[in-house]
Amino acid sequence: MGLFERDTEIYKNRDALREDYQPDQLVGRDEEIQAYQASLQPVINNEQPNNVFLYGKTGVGKTAATRYLLSHLKEDASQYEDLDLHLTFLNCDGLTSSYQIATHLINELRDDTNQISTTGYPRATVYEMLWNELNAIGGSILIVLDEVDHVEDDSILYQLPRARANNNLTEAKIGIIGISNDFSFRDNLSPKVKSSLCEQEIHFPAYDASDLQLILEQRAAVAFHDDVLDNSVIPLCAAYGAKDAGDARQSIDLLMKAGDLAREENDTTTITTSHVENGRHDLERGRIEEGISGLTQHGHLVLYSLLTLHLEDETPVRSRDVRPRYTRFAQRAGRDPLVPRRMRDHLSELAMLGLVSVTERNEGRRGGTYREYTLEMDVELILSALDEVISDVGVHDSLKNHLPDREADSITSLLEFQ
Ligand code: ADP
Ligand code: MG
Repeated sequence: MGLFERDTEIYKNRDALREDYQPDQLVGRDEEIQAYQASLQPVINNEQPNNVFLYGKTGVGKTAATRYLLSHLKEDASQYEDLDLHLTFLNCDGLTSSYQIATHLINELRDDTNQISTTGYPRATVYEMLWNELNAIGGSILIVLDEVDHVEDDSILYQLPRARANNNLTEAKIGIIGISNDFSFRDNLSPKVKSSLCEQEIHFPAYDASDLQLILEQRAAVAFHDDVLDNSVIPLCAAYGAKDAGDARQSIDLLMKAGDLAREENDTTTITTSHVENGRHDLERGRIEEGISGLTQHGHLVLYSLLTLHLEDETPVRSRDVRPRYTRFAQRAGRDPLVPRRMRDHLSELAMLGLVSVTERNEGRRGGTYREYTLEMDVELILSALDEVISDVGVHDSLKNHLPDREADSITSLLEFQ
């Protein structure tokens, strides 16, 4: 027998759980899809397309809905002879300037033998080339800028929607579909960009546990053989997903991780909730370790301070109440404490990593607002990732009864989130 042998007891089609799989149908997004479809209707009518702006957190189906609707649009457009529709899809992850977007768009629009260098041209030349390219294609052109929040200057977001009004485009009608994972991106756009780019806005809310359950059931039917999943596996993955961020990607990843763990056990043909629990632990550990290892030592000191306050039941806590502990820890580690403002930046960074949650509160009669911070992650995981700083600072009292022994994270308490 060879070293490798196929194992297909668990998975029918594991690839269906991967990022690049496009489901035939989207579940539980009827309202958003209906609004989205309506805003694309002018395209079929051979009218000037709307500019559409989609926003919502990661993993809520923005890209999937776009792919789904545009593939139908393309197919349905083919029955109208006077309609010449061209679709261009650009993911802006890794592209930070309008210049880069423009050069990448030109290359998307051109064929592979005719690509331009993505550096070295004056900006005006690049825009000129872009207009030429769009005019040469002509007809109706939809340009999807996915993850557009990566772009730091909004010149292209101003130029593209106005290209026709500015007489740069004469042969083509273009519509821009901007997609953003970041809520604040839209608010920070200049008013003139906002009014043209965000002509039609569609918000994709986070999924709740019952949405996620339907999505997972649909996907599991494609990915797994019948009767491989214990009944509580999908509800549990959905409950975790809803608790975390309402992110379908994360829930699907968790289901796949559970499947992989079951597959690694040679004699198992069933996925159980303990595979889910272990899978979640693995995924979370990976996420936390990655996040924490990217922080500076001051970031570690701030997190350690917050962890000990959490164990003493002092959270949610204000930045100024984290400060004394942080100062003491910094001194013990032989470091000069940062000024309050910089220490607060570290708290915000922890929040961005999802290690800490932030609540905005009102000051009462004085009218101002302040923020309170709470630890969001499993204490043991953070503890193990903070090894180094704990040995620099020393073991705080609050950690003493917190070494092993926390099996209490039971399934039943989690399922109550639904
Ligand atoms: P976003 O673009 O908002 O970050 P995606 O569209 O990439 O999110 O969705 C994340 C994953 O979840 C993808 O694998 C996608 O196929 C799946 N997904 C999201 N929403 C649904 C849905 N309503 N029905 C089926 N699958 C979905
Ligand atoms: Mg996306």
